[in-house]
Amino acid sequence: MNEQSTPQPAPSATRSPLNRRAVLNLGGLTAAGFAAIASTPAYADPRGTGPVGDENRSAAGALAAACVTETTMPYQNTINSAALYYEPTSAAASFRFNTTMHSRLKVWQSFWDANTPYPVMNRIDSYGAYVDRGDGCVSLHNYGRAFDIASAWTGTTRHFSARYDTWKAWTGTELTGVRIQYWAAAASLHLHFEHTLTYLYNTAHHNHFHVDNSRSGAGLSVLSKSGTQTNSIQAMLNYVWGKGTGIDGVYGNQTIQHSNEVLAQIGKGGSLTTSQSHWHAFLTATTRKGTGMQAY
Ligand SMILES: [Zn+2]
Repeated sequence: MNEQSTPQPAPSATRSPLNRRAVLNLGGLTAAGFAAIASTPAYADPRGTGPVGDENRSAAGALAAACVTETTMPYQNTINSAALYYEPTSAAASFRFNTTMHSRLKVWQSFWDANTPYPVMNRIDSYGAYVDRGDGCVSLHNYGRAFDIASAWTGTTRHFSARYDTWKAWTGTELTGVRIQYWAAAASLHLHFEHTLTYLYNTAHHNHFHVDNSRSGAGLSVLSKSGTQTNSIQAMLNYVWGKGTGIDGVYGNQTIQHSNEVLAQIGKGGSLTTSQSHWHAFLTATTRKGTGMQAY
């Protein structure tokens, strides 16, 4: 299912999981590389034709049958100050986005810069946004309303890596560090995109976060207690907040208790279900805690 299944040596904490900076420096920024990606947006979907489940349901419920005319979605090569790169080649890339979706990604990225201690993000590695998947328009990627994020950087300083397929084999503090970063990033994405898929969703998402605005549109996420959302809450409680929470996708008493403890710890109180501001406060604090911005 994954593009790169060959085991990789564990790099240092500030290097790419695939240690591909040399490739970038040699040719990733050339105009030719950029043009090649820009002129061939209908590249092969790296996720193949495996099940996409939740993606299908959200799209089918929210959208009309016909796919969008691609020329209505301008090419974008940045999200704010972050330049976009195509993960499989490390080449600078341009993707078509629905304009509302691209705006939401800019809001998310600004939130990240404001709530993390990293220097301003200047690179995002992605598997793409708009793709005509020829699947009957069931994926939000057909509408440029979905984005697959592999990692984010400032130079060689990693903000986060969604390459679980690579880092799951790491050990010690490298593993715990990259995993906390991952769930801090997941929190920031869950805040801005109610439909966020992580490595817990299925193996097709072991190398990227999938986000789309099928449910949250131009706004923030609503707590739905879906299995996908609950899995992520439990992983955040476990890995970022050290609660030892079981990860089973069931919104049960342990999840309620542990999330209430976190809300008390951050000075908000109440429960995730008290109001949307409680849900949003939990996700914001998880981003800040997981990146070392604030200890709480
Ligand atoms: Zn996707």
